[in-house]
Amino acid sequence: MRVKSLTFVMQLLLAVPSFAAESTHRFTADMMTAAERSDYERTSTFADVVAVIDALAADSPLLQRETLLLSREGREVPLVILADPPIMSPAEARASGKPVIYIQGNIHGGEVEGKEASLILMRDILYGDKRRLLENQILLFVPIYNADGNDAMAENNRPNQELSPLRTGVRTAHGLDLNRDGMIVEALETQALYGRVLQRWDPDLLVDLHTTNGTWHGYSLTYAPAYHTAGDEATSAYMSEVMLPALQAAVKRKFDLEFGWYGGFDYRNWPPTALRTYHHAPRYLTNHMGLRNRMAILSETFSHDRFYKRVHAANAFIEEILEYTRVHGAEIRRINREADTRVAASAIGQEKGVQFEMVARDERLDLRSYRYIPYANDDGSTGFARSAEIVTIEDVLNYNAFAPTKTATVPSSYLFSGALTGLKDKLEAHGIWVQTLEADASFNVEVFVVEDLVRTGARLNGHQNSALQGYFQAETRSFSRGDFIVSLDDRLAFLIFYLLEPESDDGLVFWNLFDAYLTGELATQQTAEYPVFKAL
Ligand SMILES: [Zn+2]
Repeated sequence: MRVKSLTFVMQLLLAVPSFAAESTHRFTADMMTAAERSDYERTSTFADVVAVIDALAADSPLLQRETLLLSREGREVPLVILADPPIMSPAEARASGKPVIYIQGNIHGGEVEGKEASLILMRDILYGDKRRLLENQILLFVPIYNADGNDAMAENNRPNQELSPLRTGVRTAHGLDLNRDGMIVEALETQALYGRVLQRWDPDLLVDLHTTNGTWHGYSLTYAPAYHTAGDEATSAYMSEVMLPALQAAVKRKFDLEFGWYGGFDYRNWPPTALRTYHHAPRYLTNHMGLRNRMAILSETFSHDRFYKRVHAANAFIEEILEYTRVHGAEIRRINREADTRVAASAIGQEKGVQFEMVARDERLDLRSYRYIPYANDDGSTGFARSAEIVTIEDVLNYNAFAPTKTATVPSSYLFSGALTGLKDKLEAHGIWVQTLEADASFNVEVFVVEDLVRTGARLNGHQNSALQGYFQAETRSFSRGDFIVSLDDRLAFLIFYLLEPESDDGLVFWNLFDAYLTGELATQQTAEYPVFKAL
């Protein structure tokens, strides 16, 4: 007993210097966000964000900075690295063995609270009471991913956000929706994210912070994992079945906040029987991460909440995510690395989906929603009034999963002509290794014979997207020295597959990369060959 209390006193004495050292850090007005300083009337401009990061950096060696990109309008978009001890480079991060967690706000320039919440959390980690969030992990923050979109501020850019704040930026970056660019990689922002973050820092988890477009559900925030489509199942399953349920319980317990699965429902069939999510496609960055054997969370605050409440919800969520990864980061890293090994060793020959449909999860949910009250219009039709009451509707089907409707075989490699340098560049933007044949060689391949190129009706980022109709045919083909080959005994095999399969619903065909060639061929003959060949 005596020994014990002496030890306790010793611990207290030892603890004093570090506590004192931390408390001497200045916590100054210039560390406040524009939202905090304006009583949540205003959201930060790019200059405001940089000023806060400057203030945070001034007195902390734990903060390092890189430039993510120089935006089209000349803004140097910051990537902030927090680590204890400090980390100066991706090589040091790798050597540390710690998981890297990447959090980005403001991909849609009008969805502003992730930006504010990221700045607030960085400050509270460095100068407040959340230093523990630097235990066991390296944190990367991009508070203002779409800097040009953010600064295109005007009133009423986001009418569903209840004019709170009054002025926000716009959704796109120079017309490109950055959360539809994950496969074709046309925006500077996506090129920078892939080149400077994913390929260098290789984060184990990506968190993408948004605001919903308007569904009157009864949650402060809704979330989705990287959906399991053509990727390895383990990473998505961990998010859906383990991590997200744990986070939902934690924010309820600690902050008394109600979070739930992302989705919309049809209130005209009141009460709703099904919640339906958005889309499986990897053009969405969170889904894209699944094809890279990494985890991701889509976060959507409730657009009808006042701005300060949305910042609070986003802040609570990223804090809880980092509490979770602080404890379970090694497990997340192990699951990701095991997926890498498994994909590289066994992707070849698997039947994987190339087109998908939304399906219900096994487990139903209790859906919180504002109550809609049906009433009869004079013309006999039914109208719906949205009451102020939030109700819980039990046993609702949760369409937050996907199943393949069409599959294809993962080849051992894809081969294509050395003339297709544009295709090679697209693959390399994803960090895919494209090799050059050093000698002429023949391969047993499957050729996709194109009978028709149809427009899908989807219009995304200025593309009218395409789909191919046709069939595979086995042949032996000669390739020349200088032609390109992409091997699928690679950890990115499922990403390569989704990009290059001719019938993929979000591959490079869909994004019109082969339109000019194929329509030219089909103008003069019955069929054409898809110019990427599958060696089996
Ligand atoms: Zn969004």
